[in-house]
Amino acid sequence: MSEQQRHDTEYGKTGFETRAIHAGYEPDPTTGAVIPPIYATSTYKQDGVGGLRGGYEYSRSGNPTRTALEGNLAALEEGERAFAFASGLAAEDTLVRALCRPGDHVVIPDDAYGGTFRLFDKVERAWGLEYGSAPVSDIDAVRAAIRPGATKLVWIETPTNPMLTIGDIEALAAVAHDAGALLVVDNTFASPYLQQPLTLGADVVVHSTTKYCGGHSDVVGGALVVRDAEIAEKVGFHQNAMGAVAGPFDAWLTLRGLKTLALRMERHSDNAERVVEFLTSHPQVTEVVYPGLPEHPGHAVAARQMRRFGGMVSFRVAGGEAQALAVCDRARIFTLGESLGGVESLIEHPGRMTHASVAGTDLEVPADLVRLSVGIETADDLVADLAAALEG
Ligand SMILES: *Cc1c(COP(=O)(O)O)cnc(C)c1O
Repeated sequence: MSEQQRHDTEYGKTGFETRAIHAGYEPDPTTGAVIPPIYATSTYKQDGVGGLRGGYEYSRSGNPTRTALEGNLAALEEGERAFAFASGLAAEDTLVRALCRPGDHVVIPDDAYGGTFRLFDKVERAWGLEYGSAPVSDIDAVRAAIRPGATKLVWIETPTNPMLTIGDIEALAAVAHDAGALLVVDNTFASPYLQQPLTLGADVVVHSTTKYCGGHSDVVGGALVVRDAEIAEKVGFHQNAMGAVAGPFDAWLTLRGLKTLALRMERHSDNAERVVEFLTSHPQVTEVVYPGLPEHPGHAVAARQMRRFGGMVSFRVAGGEAQALAVCDRARIFTLGESLGGVESLIEHPGRMTHASVAGTDLEVPADLVRLSVGIETADDLVADLAAALEG
């Protein structure tokens, strides 16, 4: 066992906040630096041919700043190992190549993140991978979408985007495993603070660390966290062989973000609850979609598998698309923009923005829907901003 592994095992027994701050990096033995340096180096001096100091030979294969991030993410998701990538989609593509072959089949959510759907539909399908889709909330539909023998992965998101549908991770892991498939959970919306899929039976966790993990809207990145050594071996080989790795500065920013993940997710959840309370009683709002609401169809499952319900809220307005667009335009503190999970509140119109490409398909979202990524500003200011935008 290496020094670093011993260190991570020690932190494995500690609480989430302690792991978020310490796991993956030991203060530098020569300088004492408490935070890992940004190792902006492509290569490493060898002490004689093959004499590697600390195991590094070339930064695609390994870089100490990236190693620190990967150790931290593995500890937070309680996985065997983590791997950091240039983006969430780069992580997804690497995972598919590592675990599937042309002719294999995967099941994806019928409301998968748009980029994930495009990856499977346009890129992996051209390579020979087949896919079917099912709503993650319907266990029988997921079971029916599996092709015995051919399905290698059951791939879910929970909560999904933008309708915040909830999938039962434990039950879906059993369904996947019964069919000889693995369960992959895209944990981007919940983050490891709110939900740890590997502890519920999932085999692989996918992150767009661009969102809550990074948390400051200043870096694009992705990650895979795996449950066992055999999958780790395959993913590690493909990370190096395909090369879509996180650069050292991106890894550093993401690690810096993760240190405050627990605090941020608590405040995101507090503020979302305040916003939900305001929207539910507003006469211009016809429906509020939030897994924390008892009337949300996934509430019971979410309450079981999530620590809290997070910062994403969707709602529908009485005045149809015109009002939904006007609310997006009039909001001031809620910045009009795509993406999510940063400290600043964002507002968007899924029908015209993030989900414009699925118009006319089964994935089409209601035109009167507005999606919020509730940030960590003063809750009263957020409520006042939405009140003004709705009054207009
Ligand atoms: C953003 C996102 C992705 C894609 O990640 P990128 O970092 O943009 O490549 C995948 N899944 C979900 C749920 C996302 O929100």
